[in-house]
Amino acid sequence: MSSSATCADTASTMPTILKPPSDSRDYRYIELDNGLRAVLISDPSSEKGAAALDMGVGQMSDPEELPGLAHFLEHMLFLGTEKYPDETAYSSTLKKHGGSSNAYTQFEDTVYFFDVAAPALNELLDIFAQFFVAPLFTADATGRELNAVDSEHAKNMQVDVWRTMQLMRTTSSEDYPFSKFGTGSKETLETTPAEAGIDVRDALLAFHAKYYSAAIATLAVLGTESLDELEATVRTKFAAMPRTADARPVHRADGVVDSTNPDSLPFGDGGVGQWFSVVPVADARSVALWFPVLPCAPHYKTRPASVLGHLFGHESAGSILAALKAKDWATGLSAGLSGLATADFDIFTVSVDLTEAGEANVTEVVATIFAYADMVRAAGPAALEWVYDELVAMGKVSFAAKEPQAPLKTALSVASNLQRVAPEDVLAFSTLFLADAYDPEPVRVLLESLTPTNVRVLHLSKSVAPLANAEERWYGTSYEQHALDVAAVSKTAAELEVELSLPTPNLFIPTNLELKKLAGGAEAGETYAPVVIADTPLVKLWHKQDNTFATPKASVCVKIKTPLAYASPRSVVLTALAINMIKEELNTYAYFAEVAGLKFALAYDPQGMVVQVSGYSDKLPQLLEAVVGKLAAPALDSESVFLAQRDLMTRAYLNARKQQPYMHAFQAAKATLIAPEWTPEQKLAIIGSVKLADVVAFLPRLFAQFSLEALVHGNVTPDEALVAVTSLSTALTEAYCSVPLAAELAQPRRVVALGASRPGATAPLVVAELGPDADNANSAIYTVWQAGVNSPAAEAKVGLLGQVINQPAFHELRTKQQLGYIVDVSSSEMEGTVCVRAVIQSAVKDPAALDAALDAALADIRAELAQMSAEEFSQHVAARKLAVSERDKRLAQETNRFWGEISKERYVFDRVSQVVAALDAVSSVDQLLAWYDEVMVPANKASFYLYAAAMVEAGAKLPAAVDGVAFKRGAYLYPLP
Ligand SMILES: [Zn+2]
Repeated sequence: MSSSATCADTASTMPTILKPPSDSRDYRYIELDNGLRAVLISDPSSEKGAAALDMGVGQMSDPEELPGLAHFLEHMLFLGTEKYPDETAYSSTLKKHGGSSNAYTQFEDTVYFFDVAAPALNELLDIFAQFFVAPLFTADATGRELNAVDSEHAKNMQVDVWRTMQLMRTTSSEDYPFSKFGTGSKETLETTPAEAGIDVRDALLAFHAKYYSAAIATLAVLGTESLDELEATVRTKFAAMPRTADARPVHRADGVVDSTNPDSLPFGDGGVGQWFSVVPVADARSVALWFPVLPCAPHYKTRPASVLGHLFGHESAGSILAALKAKDWATGLSAGLSGLATADFDIFTVSVDLTEAGEANVTEVVATIFAYADMVRAAGPAALEWVYDELVAMGKVSFAAKEPQAPLKTALSVASNLQRVAPEDVLAFSTLFLADAYDPEPVRVLLESLTPTNVRVLHLSKSVAPLANAEERWYGTSYEQHALDVAAVSKTAAELEVELSLPTPNLFIPTNLELKKLAGGAEAGETYAPVVIADTPLVKLWHKQDNTFATPKASVCVKIKTPLAYASPRSVVLTALAINMIKEELNTYAYFAEVAGLKFALAYDPQGMVVQVSGYSDKLPQLLEAVVGKLAAPALDSESVFLAQRDLMTRAYLNARKQQPYMHAFQAAKATLIAPEWTPEQKLAIIGSVKLADVVAFLPRLFAQFSLEALVHGNVTPDEALVAVTSLSTALTEAYCSVPLAAELAQPRRVVALGASRPGATAPLVVAELGPDADNANSAIYTVWQAGVNSPAAEAKVGLLGQVINQPAFHELRTKQQLGYIVDVSSSEMEGTVCVRAVIQSAVKDPAALDAALDAALADIRAELAQMSAEEFSQHVAARKLAVSERDKRLAQETNRFWGEISKERYVFDRVSQVVAALDAVSSVDQLLAWYDEVMVPANKASFYLYAAAMVEAGAKLPAAVDGVAFKRGAYLYPLP
């Protein structure tokens, strides 16, 4: 069969994929003889190729006796096939060609994806396709990879979202496979099956043979080749995929969720109308309503859940959140589909972050949500047509201005969307409303489900611990369950003394999407860096009018440099409190802007404060004006808002103790090496003593001396940029009688130079601590080898080292030694310096043993590097060049790149081409080895050990403590750029 004949047929019968007007990629939908459905995407300008395959089977199909089998299979698939038996074939070929890969397992889908240098796409596709034809699942790899799955579960054990989700599953109807445990562990995939005489490898082969069928898989491939070439490739490589099943597994033939049916999915008979009090690991305080509803995927053209999610999640006057905030009961709220869904059901959730007062009135909080649902029902679905129309208008604007995504993201979303929507809609359905007109019926049906008799209420708080009388089977979550008191949560708005109404029309929806004429005679497409258009002791303003992306968007980024912001833990806390209270004051107004694609951000920074406003340029000035007005004249008059924000921050600092162990090790690295760096513990120690009056008194001092450095980028002229930034500096100066900050006081933080501080040292610096979470069984190390101030040359050096070490280190430490799920050795950056860094988290070895394993692995890798062929070497150089030089695909990416240079005061706007030039200058493996021997030495190395309490109890010994403050006092610091 000639490919041109095939394509002619295809063109005549297959649907045309709807794409944004600015999207220059070509798309084609095809079906193979074995039933595989695929979307081909041709983008001749792309540096990378990408592919994703969504296999229409997942955790729901795990055999009863082997929980986690589908997920385990996902891990095993990479580790060798009949055609490519070497278990590193996929990972090492990817790495050589600058690629990356991953996979995930859901209820009814298992999704595999990779990207790679465009010329290597065919080579990778050939390896990838074999996963679905003839995987080996060797006995050896099966035994080892089980440790990775077990370690993944150990990593999730202390994470509340995993615990809560599994609690909802475990307490569901046993007749429906939603109730299963999907991750799997050594217990479910090794110990128990061994006792029952089950061979897990046989089960993997059987599962693959039964379910991995071409007819239930969807594929997306993006490459630089023409559509005809891509089609020929896909047809050839995937033709051997067997068709063992014609349809996705069905879990309940009569699978219908009906709020009036007590047997409704997925929670089962008696499973709704229930209240759960759940004890979290973190210091969380929330209440969430989970409504099982009819599947929403069939309504993707009218998106009823988007309409109701928009209303329930609104934050303006009359909304649920505004009503709860007026009572000081809540600090945040979200609403919409949970993402937990199968062909049989969806779950609509409304989730509220509670204050202490909100917790004391949690029944009324829940009642307020039902009162809002009653109000919307009373208005009737027909009255929501204008809301729908507004969402339709916004969807059109954002589709028209939609910028392309990275190849990997595109392939991933197209492949998974193709499982659920018509091929022609895979790109458009999540942005546009594709129906011809508003359809009130699905909205009515969905609204009917949002009732007290069809809900699970999850109250998550440490305060419920005394009530808990049960433990979840897989995660050990403590909880209590009882029937919901329907009368108690069924009250009118008047009884609750709250104001509830539909939102007013949104005035932020952009009406003018025209691109402004380029100033100064610059040509479209001609690249140039931002230029300084104002430079005074008070304001330094960089500007670039977009000439590349042709999108009606813009960003204003301002750093207000004021050293007081980060002068002490107390200053940081005061700055953060002030920022959070100002954000609260802006919220009901700015929420409309957010809905209309305009965002603002306020955050503290080691040099002061960062203000960012971005989105459609049409209404951007209005939002900026509002933000500036609040910065200059905040009310800061509500004790209850202050207490709520202080409580949120206190719990965030407390919850830092519950972070993953490797994050603690990273925090220790920052505290030891960056001057100054304030830790969550230091902030926690003082936050309780801070009062509202302190915040009020602090703000004038914070802004008494400041200077601004700003970037305005996008669809904005120089004059408009100047007006925007000057309005901010003028407003602050007038409000706080400020004077310009002396330039010397406006400098960034600096980093300890280990090599200069410890010249000739033969042992690395080791800083060890005991993990603060006694329930976490994992230890971790975070190790750095410093390589100096970040310059293009230094970046080329560590980048190439990370590139050649990454894959062999992962293979040795994770795949072979199975030290833990989190293993990574790569290049990194720390406050203007560069390094190679290693992260390992492990429940089987203590940090000293991890460090020793790392050193041993690196010694072997160093020996192997000496043997590297010239060809392999040049592939690595090319892969690294690709990694640094991938073109910005969206305006916001370019903004981030420019702002990174300005914010870090480096101003190397052509950094990419300088790094590429430095890589081009690397001529031989010898140069690489010389770099290795220069960087990867003990004098440059610092290892941060985090010991799990259980390992210390079992006999692991912490090394002697290092006094971080004394160490920093005596250390040399890297110069600033
Ligand atoms: Zn996994």
